[in-house]
Amino acid sequence: MGLLYLGTALTWEESKKYADHVRTHGITQFLHTWDRLKDRQGDELLWGDEIEYMVISFDKEAKNAKLSLRQTEILAKLGSIVSDISAGCADEITVPTFHPEYGRFMIESTPGSPYTGAITDLLSVECNMRYRRTLVRSHLHPTELPITLTSFPMLGTPGVFTEPYFAPAGAVSSHSLFLPEEVTNPHVRFPTLTANIRTRRGSKVAINLPIFVDTHVPRPFVDPTIPWDRAIFPEDAEAKNGAALPDHIYLDAMGFGMGCCCLQLTFQACNVAEARRVYDAMIPIGPVLLALTAASPIWRGYLADVDCRWNVIAGSVDDRTEEERGLKPLHNDKRRVNKSRYDSVDMYLSTDWSNRPEYNDTDSPIDEDIYKRLRDAGLDDLLSKHVAHLFIRDPLVIFSETIDQDDAASSDHFENIQSTNWQTVRFKPPPPNSPIGWRVEFRSMEVQMTDFENAAFSVFVVLLTRAVLAFNLNFYVPISKVDENMQRAQLRDAARAQKFFFRKDVLPPGHTAPSLSPTPSPPSSGASTPDGCADCGGAPRKETKMRNCFPALPRPAAGVARGPVEEEYAEMTMEEIMTGKGGGFPGLLGLVNAYVDTLDVTEEKRAKIGKYLDLVKRRSDGSLQTPATWMRDFVRSHPAYKFDSVVSQEINYDLMVAVDDIERGVRREPTLLPEDYNGGANDAGSIGL
Ligand code: ADP
Ligand code: MG
Ligand code: MG
Ligand code: MG
Ligand code: MG
Ligand code: MG
Repeated sequence: MGLLYLGTALTWEESKKYADHVRTHGITQFLHTWDRLKDRQGDELLWGDEIEYMVISFDKEAKNAKLSLRQTEILAKLGSIVSDISAGCADEITVPTFHPEYGRFMIESTPGSPYTGAITDLLSVECNMRYRRTLVRSHLHPTELPITLTSFPMLGTPGVFTEPYFAPAGAVSSHSLFLPEEVTNPHVRFPTLTANIRTRRGSKVAINLPIFVDTHVPRPFVDPTIPWDRAIFPEDAEAKNGAALPDHIYLDAMGFGMGCCCLQLTFQACNVAEARRVYDAMIPIGPVLLALTAASPIWRGYLADVDCRWNVIAGSVDDRTEEERGLKPLHNDKRRVNKSRYDSVDMYLSTDWSNRPEYNDTDSPIDEDIYKRLRDAGLDDLLSKHVAHLFIRDPLVIFSETIDQDDAASSDHFENIQSTNWQTVRFKPPPPNSPIGWRVEFRSMEVQMTDFENAAFSVFVVLLTRAVLAFNLNFYVPISKVDENMQRAQLRDAARAQKFFFRKDVLPPGHTAPSLSPTPSPPSSGASTPDGCADCGGAPRKETKMRNCFPALPRPAAGVARGPVEEEYAEMTMEEIMTGKGGGFPGLLGLVNAYVDTLDVTEEKRAKIGKYLDLVKRRSDGSLQTPATWMRDFVRSHPAYKFDSVVSQEINYDLMVAVDDIERGVRREPTLLPEDYNGGANDAGSIGL
C-alpha cells in the first residue's frame, strides 16, 4: 500500500474511457525510468518486511471475538507517536511505519527504515517485529488486540462479527450477501476498487472452497447460512443460479481475499540484472513457502479442505469478463486471459543463459502494441514481454484530478497497473526522484501467529536470496510446474502430504555441494567488502555482512548441449526440498547453511540464526505443525465442536484467546513452536480474557 491519494475516483464506466490513456502514459513513464536507471549500479542490499495485523475486539461476556473497525482512529493515534522510539533492537532504530490496508480492521507495519546486510540487522528483525506489535498493542482499546492471523474465521458469518455491527444489506460496493460495506477501508480507493472489479467482470466475484468433510458434515453439503432468496441487489440470485457450489464454502466479495493478512519481503538488488535473477529464483520458491507457512484453514465459519489464502484472493479480485475467462466467444474483449490479476508469476524475466526459453511454457497473453513499443525503444524480449503482460489489465481506479501527469517526473500511471498485478513475486522498478534502486518483493507467505515465526521465515528468505546470488544457483522449472505447485501448496496439510516439482540439480555446471564457494566479485563491483579468493591463496576471507553485486556466470561457449527440460526436475517432498535429495541437491537449507558459512559470525549469532533455520526445517520434516494444521486440530478438539466442520462463535473466541496466549508465551504448544519459545508481547500482559 502506497500513499493514498485524495480525489474523485471514477466509476468503471468513466474509467474505461481512460484505460488506454493510462496504459500509454504508464509505458512512457516506465521508459523514462528505464532510460534513466537501466545502467544504475552498485546499490547495496537493503531489505524489509511488511506484516499485516487484524485488530480483534473481545467481548468476554458474550464470548465473541470480533473485528474492530477502528483502523482510521488507530492509525491516527499511531501516526502521532514520535517519542519512545528506542526499542533496544539494534544500535539505531527508526520509528516504524503503519499503513492502512483493504480491511477496516487491518493495520500494516514496516520497519521505519530498511534493514541493511549487517548481521546485527538480520538478528534484530524479530525484535523489530515485536516492537511494532507492542506499539500497536499499547495503543488499542483495553479490549482489543492486534493478531497476526491470515484469515478471520468468522468473516461473513450470520452473527455479529464486527465491532460495531453493520448489516450486509448496505454493501453498495460489493453487493455481497455476507460482508457489510463497513468492513472495507472507507478511503474512496477501496470501495471504488471493489465496485469497479464487480462492474468490469459483469457479476460478483465467486470463490468456492471445498468444505472439509468431517464425520458429521451432511452430503451433499448445501450451506444453510447462505441467504439464498435475498433480493436486495440484482446479483443476489447468483448464488442459487450456480455461483455457489454444493460441498463448498461460497465467498462473493473482494473483502474475503483482500481482508487476509500476509508477510511480504522486499530486497534491493545491485542492478537491474541482479533484480531479474533474484526475481526468477524466487518464483519456484513461492509455492514452497506458501505450503510451509499455511495458516488459513477456516472460512466464513467453516473448516475448509484447503489451508491457504491464495486462491481466495485470486478469486476475490478476478475482474476478467466472461469472454476473457473463456466462457463466451470473444466479441467485445480483445483476448482470453488465463489468470486473475492476482496470481502466481507467468513469466521468468532474467536474460541469464540459465533461463531457457522452454521454461516460459504457459499461454500468457501480452499487449502486442505495447510489446512492440518497448522493443522499438530498445528493451529486450523478456522484459518487454513482462511489462506487456502486466499491461493487458485495465486500470481499476482512476482519479479525475490525476489523469494528466508529467511522464518524466511521475510513475503513477505505471504504478496504477503494476500495483494491481498482484503476483507471488513483484519486480519493482525504482520510483522517480528517490535513492531507491531495483527491487524484488516476495509475496506468497501467510502471516504467522508469532513474530518468532515471522522473523524465522524472513531470515530464511533473505539468506536464500544471498545463497542464490553467491553460488549462482539455478531453481528454474517450467512455469506450468510452478502453477501446479501453487495449487498443491494450498491443499490441506500440503507440507506433509504433497510432493512438489523441484529442480534436481541447482548448482552451477561443474559444482558439487561441498565445493560451494561464492563467486568472487570483481574489484569494481561496488560491494562493500572486496572479497575474491581467486588470487589470494588459502581460504576465502569471510564476509562481515550480506551483500549484493555477485556477478552472474558467464554464458558458456556456444554449443553446450542441454538435455530435455523434463529431465531437470522431479517431484519431491517438502523435506527433500528443504534438506536435500542426494546428488546435486543439498536442499534449500543446505544451501542457506553453506552461505552462512561464508559469513563472519560469532558462534552466538550463528546459534541464533540456527534457531530460525531450525523452525523452517522442523516445519518441513513435520516435527512442527503449520499454523493451519494446528488451528484445524484446535477446532476439532474443542468440546463444543460437533464434527460438522462448523466453527462457532464460541470456538472462534477460544481460538483467538489461544492465539494471543501462544504469542505471549503463556500457552505452550510444543507441536507448533520450539520448546524454548518464550513469548513476544509477554511484557504487555494479558488483557484479562
Ligand atoms: P508495498 O506495500 O508497496 O509492497 P511497503 O512500502 O509497504 O511496500 O514496504 C516496502 C518494504 O521495503 C518495507 O519493509 C521497507 O522497509 C522496505 N524498503 C524500503 N526501502 C527499500 C529499499 N531501498 N530496498 C529494499 N527494501 C526497501
Ligand atoms: Mg499490505
Ligand atoms: Mg505495504
Ligand atoms: Mg501492499
Ligand atoms: Mg503497495
Ligand atoms: Mg508489499
